[in-house]
Amino acid sequence: MVRNKKKIVILGGGFAGVECARQLESKIGNDDEIELVMISEDNFLLFTPMLPQVASGMIETRHIVLPIRTICKKIKFYEGRIKNIDPYGKLVTLWGTGDKRSISVHYDFLIVGLGSETNFFGMSDVEKNAYTMKTLNDAVMLRNRVIDMLEQAENETDPILRKSFLNFVVAGGGFAGIETAGELMDLLLDARKYYPTIHKNDLKVVVIEALGMILPGFNEKLAGFAKEKMTDNGIDIRLKTAITSFDGNEVTTKLLVQNPKEEDEEPITDVIRTKTLIWTAGVTPVNTIKRSMFKTEKGKLIVNDYLEVQDFPGVFAIGDCAMFLDPETQRPFPPTAQIAEAQAKVAAKNLISMISNSKKEKFVYHSKGQMAIIGKRTGIATFLGMNISGFWAWLIWRNVYLSKISTFDKRTRVFLDWTIDLFFDRDISRLKLMKHEPEKEYRQLDEVDDVW
Ligand SMILES: Cc1cc2nc3c(=O)[nH]c(=O)nc-3n(C[C@H](O)[C@H](O)[C@H](O)COP(=O)(O)OP(=O)(O)OC[C@H]3O[C@@H](n4cnc5c(N)ncnc54)[C@H](O)[C@@H]3O)c2cc1C
Repeated sequence: MVRNKKKIVILGGGFAGVECARQLESKIGNDDEIELVMISEDNFLLFTPMLPQVASGMIETRHIVLPIRTICKKIKFYEGRIKNIDPYGKLVTLWGTGDKRSISVHYDFLIVGLGSETNFFGMSDVEKNAYTMKTLNDAVMLRNRVIDMLEQAENETDPILRKSFLNFVVAGGGFAGIETAGELMDLLLDARKYYPTIHKNDLKVVVIEALGMILPGFNEKLAGFAKEKMTDNGIDIRLKTAITSFDGNEVTTKLLVQNPKEEDEEPITDVIRTKTLIWTAGVTPVNTIKRSMFKTEKGKLIVNDYLEVQDFPGVFAIGDCAMFLDPETQRPFPPTAQIAEAQAKVAAKNLISMISNSKKEKFVYHSKGQMAIIGKRTGIATFLGMNISGFWAWLIWRNVYLSKISTFDKRTRVFLDWTIDLFFDRDISRLKLMKHEPEKEYRQLDEVDDVW
């Protein structure tokens, strides 16, 4: 068989991958000479800004996921976990599973948008015992955990054990950590009325942040407002503090002092008795990228001004997995959906320029503003050059993020969930779910998708 079509393969169905696919579909989707392919582990786009609201039971689980096949209709989609990228042979290999064989997919052009995973900074005890907030599974597991802790605490007679059931520690004061802490407190206060022995003051949510402020992308005034409001709502925020261990019963923390007077000065440590640590303190690119043949820095793919991967023309990296320095700060851009989508647009344009032999465009980022919600119908936002805080920021957040859900069906479902939440209590039924299975090698590679 003679292969004439140019094959563009997009890896990852997250914000970056999906936006890139949509751009390519709209511009070259009807070109018979081009084949568009996407490979991703899940067959949906996860709308992460609303993940904490799934964990708190405000939004139904499936309402924040958009099936790839319904939003990218012109691509050929493979659901599978990528095992290896061979940039010399231009081949992407997928892991097999118990039910399906491992296959390989050839590409002419490649877009890598594989995102990131939770970074535990080498603390294996934390990795083993903590809950995370990155996937849909994480949000469902956390909600069940919180309900379980309330159930256990309600009938527990040992006061120390009871306290540890009702203490919840969130590691990380970024978007994910702060929004999770705010939602968690709202859920606890809402659910508490069904647990007669549990009083408001028994509930404790602690946020541990290594920096001197929370929500570091915001200006100090807005971040200060968020901290103050959350503290008023009963959330204990500890800055310049690092978690050093968690054995499933106790979180150990250490105060970070910038210039210790003496080298051998003992760090100030503390112990928080808790059964639930939620780790949102950092992300790192996925292993598929770290162990690839591409050049990486801090695990991220090094790209040039056009978002092309170093030494491999025709391969682009976008989103959380790309190392692109902010020209103003000379630091990497933070991992946000907004940046992932902006990069996706430029990468799609540049790929089309490559095919048509026209001039490529440099990636220049213009922020559209930032928003975060912090619980109790309160938020902070920088929007159209203005600083907004409180209820109005919360309302803007809801409107903006609702409009970003790309299908009418899911937008309506989220809107109805929010409306229902205004009138009814949250559901406290706990569903028993299993933890994720570790990866296993199944049958050897024995199929290639086409011949060339
Ligand atoms: C709780 C939470 C709240 C957030 N809130 C905000 C917010 O309010 N605003 C904001 O701008 N950003 C927010 N973010 C950050 C935002 O979600 C990320 O920056 C964004 O998702 C990055 O997009 P991406 O496409 O690079 O990666 P992702 O969206 O993570 O997509 C990566 C894709 O690659 C797939 N993948 C990974 N490895 C493999 C593999 N080996 N094989 C196959 N597929 C694979 C994944 O399944 C996924 O589909 C939040 C993140 C979290 C976790």
